[in-house]
Amino acid sequence: MKFRSKRPANLCGKLIVSCQALDGSPFRNSESMARFAQAAVQGGAEGIRANGAEDVRAIKQVVEVPIIGIWKAEQDDGKILITPSVEAAQKLVEAGASVVAIDCTARGQKYGALDRLRRIQRELEVPVFADIATLEEAVQAAQTGADAVLSTMRGYTPETQHVQGFEPSFIAQLVEAVDVPVIAEGHIQTAAEVRAALAAGACAVIVGTAITRPEIITRQFAAAFDEWRRSRNPHRTVIGIDIGGTNTKSGLVNSRGEMLSHVITPTPWNEGRAALLKHLERCVAVCQEVARDRGIEAEAIGLATAGWVDPNSGEVVYATENLPGWTGANPAAYLREAFGLPVAIENDANALAVAEKYFGAAKNATDFVCITLGTGVGGGCYIAGGLNRGRHFFANALGHIPIVPDGAPCTCGKSGCLEAYANAAALLRYAAPGKFTACEEIVAAANAGNPTAAGAVNTLAKYLGMGCTAIIDLLDPEMLIVAGGLAQDNALLIRSLTQELGKRVTVWHKRHLQVQATTLGYWAGLLGAAAVASAGVDGECAAVEASTTRVPDATLAVGPR
Ligand SMILES: [Zn+2]
Repeated sequence: MKFRSKRPANLCGKLIVSCQALDGSPFRNSESMARFAQAAVQGGAEGIRANGAEDVRAIKQVVEVPIIGIWKAEQDDGKILITPSVEAAQKLVEAGASVVAIDCTARGQKYGALDRLRRIQRELEVPVFADIATLEEAVQAAQTGADAVLSTMRGYTPETQHVQGFEPSFIAQLVEAVDVPVIAEGHIQTAAEVRAALAAGACAVIVGTAITRPEIITRQFAAAFDEWRRSRNPHRTVIGIDIGGTNTKSGLVNSRGEMLSHVITPTPWNEGRAALLKHLERCVAVCQEVARDRGIEAEAIGLATAGWVDPNSGEVVYATENLPGWTGANPAAYLREAFGLPVAIENDANALAVAEKYFGAAKNATDFVCITLGTGVGGGCYIAGGLNRGRHFFANALGHIPIVPDGAPCTCGKSGCLEAYANAAALLRYAAPGKFTACEEIVAAANAGNPTAAGAVNTLAKYLGMGCTAIIDLLDPEMLIVAGGLAQDNALLIRSLTQELGKRVTVWHKRHLQVQATTLGYWAGLLGAAAVASAGVDGECAAVEASTTRVPDATLAVGPR
């Protein structure tokens, strides 16, 4: 691959180390940056990325490898912009930078990045690299004449804030989309990720924080001690809140999964976002009062909610009209602000899977599925020891696995979904309307031998078996745990479901799949919320911490590498 400008930077096929320190770091001086650069080159780096003319000059004096110069400066919107002027670029080049990188994101372009890119190339005769966050930005920069595109800003712009880690697939897409070299930068923490970047077609890779920020590296090790200390404390108590479309369960739960208090209150489901947040605040306040009375201190808050949730930001990404106004709410941030405690949040079905892992039947399992049968049908899956959330937090929509072409209408707007055939309404339908008024009655009668009720449970089990077969064939779990109101005291359902699976799942006899009802009981939702809090404290789930800056804008202000 060739760079277009007159003076090629010779950076292809090379490891570039970004040597930057934040204000407040003991390394925030040019001499330290020069030493970092020297050490990086000794270790095999063949390029350096550095911020500001002073650092570039100091680094240039001690290493001979090419330097990508950037100039971070705060703009009138209060956020940092990378190399906002031709003058800044000129100072970088005079100091010894052989390449200049500029912010070519949508925001950067608003500040005239593409125009500046051409001017820097023309007037300073150096290659210009474009720091971008999306494919569209990369294409625009490449078409303008950027000499390379860098994935630096991915995860640091409002449009890409859902990206929390390195994405080799994005690098591959960039390589497809532009005809200039692609350099992988941002969120690269390990040698394995460097290999993945190269395999995806990156022509060079820039690593920063993982090499040149000792305080962040140390924090990762220190965190292991925090987790260890917490896990040794058997008296740890958390607050769990499970907010559903009808009721909210809340209470105090200790690290053994013992409920120290539990209450159930109606959810003000149709009163909008503000009322829902206030409601949660009251639930926490009640728990704290109970805790105070007993001389306990709750360490964290766990929230399980209907809807799809981004556990990193704490936002409800999408909720149905069961909770109007809930989409876009950030209950985790709200509660953190109100109580100053770490708050961890999960989708309620995911939370039940976490509860099974922490307190229930799946303590020793690495691969299991927990399916919940109630008003809706939901699920949570652990794959290879970790909770499966999916890239956009929409995973495990087990209720919407299609099982009947053009079948019964579903709450999702489609038809023929598992949910429409395996929820409470379906069970009532199967039991002949009028004969029974509640699912509990049907379940009790079925298990006592009533043929109509048993027939209804068997019909539900047949459809459930169809849906679960798809899940089992896909994930090959070791356990299938059935939870929710319909699984309560319903041995017949488990027997009937197991039979159905035996008929449908491929190589059933080799799987030894354990099918069972949850042992967590009526308060499973509360235990799920508490487990999410515990998992947050243990670092296994993202906790929206009281003290850290996970808010994307704050990250942007701190600056990408
Ligand atoms: Zn559906």
